[in-house]
Amino acid sequence: MKIALIAHDKKKADMIQFAIAYQAILEKHELYATGTTGLRIHEATGLPIHRFQSGPLGGDQEIGAMIAQNKMDMVIFFRDPLTAQPHEPDVSALIRLCDVYSIPLATNMGTAEILIKGLERGDFAWRKIINEKQGE
Ligand code: PGA
Repeated sequence: MKIALIAHDKKKADMIQFAIAYQAILEKHELYATGTTGLRIHEATGLPIHRFQSGPLGGDQEIGAMIAQNKMDMVIFFRDPLTAQPHEPDVSALIRLCDVYSIPLATNMGTAEILIKGLERGDFAWRKIINEKQGE
């Protein structure tokens, strides 16, 4: 499964904690991230991660493009609701695309833990079936 990991600056410490805690699960999947988030996770865990541009430079849109092509299975996006983001339109667009394509999306640690445990339990097998039908 392809999983996108994104964290706004004040949430990066949470993301690293999350990646360390669930490394054993994450390492079984294909990981993608916005630039700085990906770098920080890789430095902390050694997990291989495909890194896109930094969020404010278009990284959220690159992940959105993958969703629109049905090439992303899950998005974990620790957004900061208390700080104005210069790329707020990109953030909204990414969340919108998750809803358009019914892609599981967690925007905080509580939901992310449920998604990742569901992933391990096989709750997202329906995504695999869709991918197989598309020859991915
Ligand atoms: P970053 O981007 O991982 O490059 O910091 C995340 C964001 O701000 O959307």
